[in-house]
Amino acid sequence: MDKKEQEKFVKEFIERKPTRCSKCRGRLRYIGAGRYECFDCGHEEIDDFGKVKEFIDENGACPAIIISECTGVPEEIINGMLRQGRLEIPDGSTMYITCEKCGCSIRYGRFCPDCIRNRTNTLKNVFFNPEVGEKPQHQLLLI
Ligand SMILES: [Zn+2]
Ligand SMILES: [Zn+2]
Repeated sequence: MDKKEQEKFVKEFIERKPTRCSKCRGRLRYIGAGRYECFDCGHEEIDDFGKVKEFIDENGACPAIIISECTGVPEEIINGMLRQGRLEIPDGSTMYITCEKCGCSIRYGRFCPDCIRNRTNTLKNVFFNPEVGEKPQHQLLLI
């Protein structure tokens, strides 16, 4: 995902995020994991991240197109969240996203730890690079 794609994703994600309570139009506060609570009536709203996270927690990882059909969240947004490391594919899933450089499986991010290590040559950077993903412990099927 290049910078332009990333900006587009962030813009779309923010535009789709709930800003007001759907029941009383009250202000919302973020309570974590993509969920918001209304200051006035306590009604809970959920954003795209919360919807997809809930779906994956309940059903395990599925191809983005299926998640999109079940949650109503556009496929580009789902892929964007995975690439940004906002969503993690649980260990032991039947599919993962792949490292943009070597194509191995990773659970989130853009590159596997090996590729980042080769690129930076210092181990320290691996832990502070937001683009680095984690390899699954149990390798199953690739996408
Ligand atoms: Zn409300
Ligand atoms: Zn790699």
